[in-house]
Amino acid sequence: MADIIQLLPDHVANQIAAGEVVQRPASVVKELLENAIDAGADSIKLIIKDAGKTLVQVIDNGKGMSVTDARLSFERHATSKIRNADDLFKLNTKGFRGEALASIAAIAHVELKTKQESDDVGTSIVIEGSTVASQDVVVTPTGTSISVKNLFFNIPARRNFLKSDTVELRHVIDEFHRVALAHPNISFALYNNGSESFNLPISNYRQRIVNIFGTKTNEKLVPVEEDTEVLKISGFVGKPEFSKKTRGEQYFFVNNRFIKSAYLNHAILSAFDGLLKNGTHPGYFLNLTVNPQTIDINIHPTKTEIKFDDEHTLYALLRSAVKHSLGQFNIAPVLDFERDATLDTPYSKKNETTQTPKIEVDRSFNPFQESKPSGRQTTAFKQTPNNWDSLYVGLESKGTMSQNDFSEVSFESDQSVSSLFEEKEQSETASSTYQLHNKYIISAIKSGMLVIDQHRAHQRILYEDFLQDITVKVGVSQQLLFPLELHFSAQELEIIKQVQEDLEHTGFVFSNVTDESIAIKGVPVIVPESEISIILEQLISDVQNEVPEANFSATDLLAKSMAKSLAIKTGQSLQIDEQEHIVNRLFACKEPNVSPTNRVTFVTVGVDELDKKFI
Ligand code: ADP
Ligand code: MG
Repeated sequence: MADIIQLLPDHVANQIAAGEVVQRPASVVKELLENAIDAGADSIKLIIKDAGKTLVQVIDNGKGMSVTDARLSFERHATSKIRNADDLFKLNTKGFRGEALASIAAIAHVELKTKQESDDVGTSIVIEGSTVASQDVVVTPTGTSISVKNLFFNIPARRNFLKSDTVELRHVIDEFHRVALAHPNISFALYNNGSESFNLPISNYRQRIVNIFGTKTNEKLVPVEEDTEVLKISGFVGKPEFSKKTRGEQYFFVNNRFIKSAYLNHAILSAFDGLLKNGTHPGYFLNLTVNPQTIDINIHPTKTEIKFDDEHTLYALLRSAVKHSLGQFNIAPVLDFERDATLDTPYSKKNETTQTPKIEVDRSFNPFQESKPSGRQTTAFKQTPNNWDSLYVGLESKGTMSQNDFSEVSFESDQSVSSLFEEKEQSETASSTYQLHNKYIISAIKSGMLVIDQHRAHQRILYEDFLQDITVKVGVSQQLLFPLELHFSAQELEIIKQVQEDLEHTGFVFSNVTDESIAIKGVPVIVPESEISIILEQLISDVQNEVPEANFSATDLLAKSMAKSLAIKTGQSLQIDEQEHIVNRLFACKEPNVSPTNRVTFVTVGVDELDKKFI
């Protein structure tokens, strides 16, 4: 038979890549603004027409490009920002994939004008659907101007998929806000259909927030500052009395990049515990600075998701920093942190007069005398209460995994696993697993050892559980004592309605879905009540982030999203039985090798590999 495999022509490959990078005009806005920032500009203008469908133009005063670079910038994988894979771990630029301009040029009419400081004249290039229409010498100021016209002109299906101008404009403005908030040291302007919507001069962070959200915002802001070895936090949270029914002004930036994290959002909510009116959301503008080597930002091409090495610690630090600020600004009723409760005088003793301790001196004590078997010290020890182990009550580890999660283990396909573990069963070791850095589970196998990523492995387990629940419609539900009412925007509720039926199959029971809230009566057994809102928020943001054209399956997305929210986190310490549970359940999965998002769940290290290291 003849050979049938062919390499895709570049313009087709670019169009496919464009599907990932460019979902709507706002994606173009993001990429162009980020390029302008990477170019070192301190003044950036964004001009849009018809919500960006007709025109997105970004003009910057950055370093510009040479003639050759201008031409090369539209090639796929052309980037000036990394040279080798190692650079990926020390990123301080926004872009690095080198595919934004190539992708945009594949699906729009693009005009570039650019000039470097040292040159007298600049370069102008016009590209239409990946084909260069013209390249000329032009007179243009130092910096770069890129116009992107008629987005998706050659992919009608994508163009038709775009929402109304109002919705698309909202996305564009959201993107503009995010970038502008992350860079108060750069001036930004936004012109929409010929009129100026924003003009933000270079300023400090507080002024930038106020310039965007209005002067009234100023009095609402409470500063948050914290500087620890692993994390630096700076920014503001909104005072609780200004919290809103919809989750509008909530911004996390990690190393100056906007991110979404339902988990960290939850840390903030829990710091506000007891201060918020029911169903309202606090605003926040928080910048987190972490060592770039401890994060992975490249999970999603549009890069609003991030993976931290130790989410658990970040959660705790963030929560306590916000709590601290709310307390300092006399917003929280009590300052209940940083104080050792054991130092407090118990109430029952408060009115007792203190007695001077009597000092007894053993005058017969001779330090040079051999100690007698029943000396004073031994008797002293005997006086300690014999129920000393009660001291440890309450110190058991508080993993978020409920007992339920473990008691209902089913080992359907144990056979497939047994060969891996044969030898382990023979040896009578007390525990066959070991947890490393609260991140990996190490387990001995015939040929060496298994190193399992606890978070990814648990995601896989839960994902398959949820998929099964949804398809077989057997999710077991636990009744809530009081129905929980959660408020959402109309757009967010729309998303929940899309997946409502599937949610019900996992065990959710909704009693009332209105235009602005839902009431929840029951949840899947594995979902703790305190996590309900975080799971739904994560779900909404996952649906919003989903690439529209990819074969979107609500069921799969839901299972992935819930698995992600509920999976034990990196940084969480696990008991031996919890570790073993994960190992056993993982290998009972249909696809144990990868997480639901296709990341490796475990690696094996052979004894032979170890042997080599000891030569
Ligand atoms: P990336 O940003 O990932 O490197 P892009 O496709 O967005 O990839 O851009 C490709 C290259 O074009 C960049 O690495 C940069 O060298 C150059 N470039 C793009 N936009 C600008 C700009 N506004 N000013 C100067 N150089 C730019
Ligand atoms: Mg870029």
